Amino acid sequence: MARHIYVHNPFCARKCPYCDFYSVTDHSCVDELYKAAVTEAELLGSVITETTGINSFTDADGIDTVYFGGGTPSLPDSRLITELLAAIKKNFSISKDAEITIEVNPSSVREDKLEDYLKAGFNRISVGIQSLDDEVLKTLGRLHDSKGAVDALMMITASGFTNVSADLITGVPGETLEGIKSDIKTFYELGVKHISTYSLSIEEGTPFFERYSKTLEEFVSPEKEREMYHGTREFLQNLGYETYEISNSALPGYRSIHNSSYWNSCEYFAIGAGAHGYIGDMRYGHKDDVVSYIKEMKTITSKDYKDFFEGSREDLVSLYVEEMLNEDDKMREVPFLRLRTSEGILLDEFRKMFGKEFEDVFADEVESNISKGLLERKERTLRLTRSGLDLANKVIEDFL
Ligand code: SF4
Repeated sequence: MARHIYVHNPFCARKCPYCDFYSVTDHSCVDELYKAAVTEAELLGSVITETTGINSFTDADGIDTVYFGGGTPSLPDSRLITELLAAIKKNFSISKDAEITIEVNPSSVREDKLEDYLKAGFNRISVGIQSLDDEVLKTLGRLHDSKGAVDALMMITASGFTNVSADLITGVPGETLEGIKSDIKTFYELGVKHISTYSLSIEEGTPFFERYSKTLEEFVSPEKEREMYHGTREFLQNLGYETYEISNSALPGYRSIHNSSYWNSCEYFAIGAGAHGYIGDMRYGHKDDVVSYIKEMKTITSKDYKDFFEGSREDLVSLYVEEMLNEDDKMREVPFLRLRTSEGILLDEFRKMFGKEFEDVFADEVESNISKGLLERKERTLRLTRSGLDLANKVIEDFL
């Protein structure tokens, strides 16, 4: 059974010009959307009970992580968020020490909301800061300035949250390595335990695509971008943060269990418009459309949902199958997901999962990347070398 739940909040105050995540700025259906999400939690609870014969209230071996992402989950009234978490707790068996995360934005987080989140059971918070440089924040079109971000972090740690993560975007025009280091140092001093550093990527269909798709390299050359990546990683290491995945670093004991579940090919349920999940052989999602989500949750039954998971319903309004994975797809997902991690591919795990040796299945890909110095074998693992980190996407593509 899946041990993870992802909840997507599809609302944002304003669309950031670089962002291609699903979010909407029309908030007229917020209440209806959250009512629909509560219905979905109840439906999933019944599907689990019917499928496994286990009453989800009493199943002690339950959910390990719940992650409220977005969009901006700190934007709606905290009552809606806490009622949804309560419905999840009521309909799933949540492990006692489950990691329950909420993403927040410095511009919408408030003391009373933080108090409500803690009371409801959230024990990890991820803050979308992106930079502490006002010029960079302006370029990114963020609603907060650096003072707002620092104040939000201080408010969060004062509220009682101890497991705090902050996001940074690197490779933004005008950004410098010294600036990034200074931001990281501030995070460290403010008690941030986990730092995600994402390289700016220019996505088609965003205003940034119009602005930078042809010119980004004039502002940030590939060499400069790599220098920033390695400089940032080194600086994080010196402060005690372990980079356990290409974009994620944590102080000991603070790795994200939820994110790690993705890299370990674990199953997870998806709740909310635009949310994606993975159950059995199926990668699935809810359409990026709040209206069809609300409509679906008014009519769908637990039998429909169960049939959907069993692959016999393709006529639903919002739920759709993204991909049915066969054995070959599942084997190819291992390098796709694991090569991004510092541990790399665990060869014994692979053999346990598929009854085959990874190096037999991907003999050519492994040998050619080792001979180019991009992959290295260490005991029973295979992982990217330092040069491999710079060409990670290319190495991963070889296995697809
Ligand atoms: S706040 Fe986050 S999810 Fe919303 S538009 Fe900006 S980057 Fe995208």
